[in-house]
Amino acid sequence: MIPAINLGFPRMGAARELKKALESFWQGKTDEKFLLETAAGLRKRHWDLQKDAGIRAVPCNDFSFYDQVLDTAFLLGCVPQRHRAVGAEGSLAVYFSMARGSKDAPAMEMTKWFDTNYHYIVPEFEKDMLFRLSGDKVFAEYEEAKAQGLNAVPVLVGPVTFVLLGKAKHEGFSVKDTVAKLVPVYAEILKKLAEMGAAEVQLDEPCLVTDLSEEARAACKAAYEALAGAAPGLGIRLATYFGALGDNAGLAFSLPVDSVHVDLCRAPEQLEACIDAAGKTGKALSLGLVDGRNVWRNDLSASLALLEKAAAKLGKDRVRVGPGCSLLHVPVDLELEESLDAELKGWMAFAKQKLAEIALLARGAHEGRDAIAMELAASDAAQAARKSSPRIHNAEVEKRLAAVSSAMLARTSPFAARAEAQRAGFGLPVFPTTSIGSFPQTPAIREARAGFKAGSLDAAAYEAAMKKEIAEVVRFQEEIGMDVLVHGEAERNDMVEYFGEQLQGFAFSKHGWVQSYGSRCVKPPIIYGDVARPRPMTVAWSAYAQSLTRKIMKGMLTGPVTILQWSFVRDDQPRAATCRQIALAIRDEVADLEKAGIRVIQIDEPAIREGLPLRRAGWAAYLKWAVEAFRLSSCTVKDATQIHTHMCYSEFNDIIEAVAAMDADVISIETSRSQMELLDAFVNYKYPNEIGPGVYDIHSPRVPAAQEMVALLEKARGVLKPEQIWVNPDCGLKTRGWPEVKAALAHMVQAAETMRARETAAAA
Ligand code: GLN
Ligand code: ZN
Repeated sequence: MIPAINLGFPRMGAARELKKALESFWQGKTDEKFLLETAAGLRKRHWDLQKDAGIRAVPCNDFSFYDQVLDTAFLLGCVPQRHRAVGAEGSLAVYFSMARGSKDAPAMEMTKWFDTNYHYIVPEFEKDMLFRLSGDKVFAEYEEAKAQGLNAVPVLVGPVTFVLLGKAKHEGFSVKDTVAKLVPVYAEILKKLAEMGAAEVQLDEPCLVTDLSEEARAACKAAYEALAGAAPGLGIRLATYFGALGDNAGLAFSLPVDSVHVDLCRAPEQLEACIDAAGKTGKALSLGLVDGRNVWRNDLSASLALLEKAAAKLGKDRVRVGPGCSLLHVPVDLELEESLDAELKGWMAFAKQKLAEIALLARGAHEGRDAIAMELAASDAAQAARKSSPRIHNAEVEKRLAAVSSAMLARTSPFAARAEAQRAGFGLPVFPTTSIGSFPQTPAIREARAGFKAGSLDAAAYEAAMKKEIAEVVRFQEEIGMDVLVHGEAERNDMVEYFGEQLQGFAFSKHGWVQSYGSRCVKPPIIYGDVARPRPMTVAWSAYAQSLTRKIMKGMLTGPVTILQWSFVRDDQPRAATCRQIALAIRDEVADLEKAGIRVIQIDEPAIREGLPLRRAGWAAYLKWAVEAFRLSSCTVKDATQIHTHMCYSEFNDIIEAVAAMDADVISIETSRSQMELLDAFVNYKYPNEIGPGVYDIHSPRVPAAQEMVALLEKARGVLKPEQIWVNPDCGLKTRGWPEVKAALAHMVQAAETMRARETAAAA
């Protein structure tokens, strides 16, 4: 039999049971016993589901109370000193303290897992950290599965990826030494698993699809050589995903492991080379053919052809078939989506459906195409229907795209001339103040939105409620003396969903939750067809807000790259093409806002940096289309109309040239937490346009004194020209409460006034 395998399953449960159990445990509403029982129930359900789908070796230890990288740190004794005192070794108290912080121990950092929207806890490597086996989760889960009649495959983050994802907290840290110190602990784990009866273990090494240093490659070689003899009889599956092995292919296949898993969804071009390498080295090749990062139904015929090719060359006993990567990144079950129409559903597959696809492929390759003839025919029909569906193709959009000219990608005049026109038109003081867009989302606002959606609040009542909110934020901003106002974004649930819901080519699931971090889940929109904007999306709200004030009202939009990045996207055309379509839709909105008298328009692009490809070689091409999409969306306006953009949680050094090429008149960035350090990239580059370096952290309810903000602004003033500087918070204020927002923004305006007074005094 060709084994149908799985690399990992979503943990939360179709009804987000784990999220609820975790949050009620953290709030002290339920006890540890309830949490453990909920978790065990979910694991059982998910194992059953995989077994019933025909997955031969199901994974275990892919479950987590928070994150698998944190689990690995915990297991290896990689626990920072500050968390050790919180509770007994191996206790949930220590575990959650690492994840979320506790009284005297701030949480560990969190960052994005490769190019996904999943966040992992960043391991910390302290001096003289003593690594040793200090948890039993992996063994307990293995036993638990066994009790249910399954010889599961325990999954661990491999030693090289684990170390490369971590952060050194001491001088003299070395990747090689740290991996070497961890290997004996891994060896002990493998040995114990083998003794318990495990036949195979999966070591996840997605770092093998990234650019590796010579040191990391040597560390990898040494680690796996040392592990090879640790547990005789236990097979090692080296799992790689999220891209092509590329220049690491030789390394991966030279390691003493039993099978190598490769992601053929993201990198189908590597199949031939991998078949060759597996052939030469006598390894089994595990083919990742079902997309673990997207929601589309598999093209079974096409996948089967690849599998057949591998089986013909290597022999059936030397191939396996599975998802490209863990199914963690897709929702659980399409069957629950009652509100998606049948046609769209016919094109999709969530985790449960993907398992069935994997099993079918294994069967088709083993028994021959005839054995799954009906399923193949259904798959072919679904592919053909999707390809030719009028819901995917919009001739109008395709015509407009073809007509995009280079003139549409550039403003009429260079920045200097635009700045002059804007200065003359706006009459703003130096150090103008503004905010990033959203104001607190109060329970009343949420209730009104929910009521409108559910139909209990009619359109007129909803509009009146939103207008009242807008009027209040406008009045407040006038009172404290802000210069460029915003309408507050009360009508928006989410900065991507809000636009997706008004655009053609987008669909929304009801239960399509995907873990983002810890207990937090997101429900990404699904872009299935050509994107078009049937009518204005924000103009009425912005125009209403402008009608209430003589000050400048800023229009607020989400940029094309961010909309793309935070959605499930089409797999039948390049991301760049989809992005360009979104850009055209945003461009129309920008033009309509300008026509309606909005003279400052902000297009948020917080996700530009996270879209960077994993390999440096792919950066230039990505940045080119991403910048072009932003320019296409923004460059329709007159010189005198000012374009802003906003980016948060970004490191700018790598992308500063692209940021400059976006040519926004003003960019606001998050800089307060780094004490303006993130401004360095702009300073070193001599960034020519205007910048609003965030002067206060919006992630905390703390209200900074005006003096603190003045100190940050002085730092900025030291390295930038005064006429370049805007004064604003780090990001939107929607998660904050009104009392702190009122106080903090009032202090911010005072800080700007202090700066202006100093400027005048210096000139006199
Ligand atoms: N305009 C958005 C807001 O203020 C920006 C959010 C973001 O950058 N993530 O909420
Ligand atoms: Zn932001």
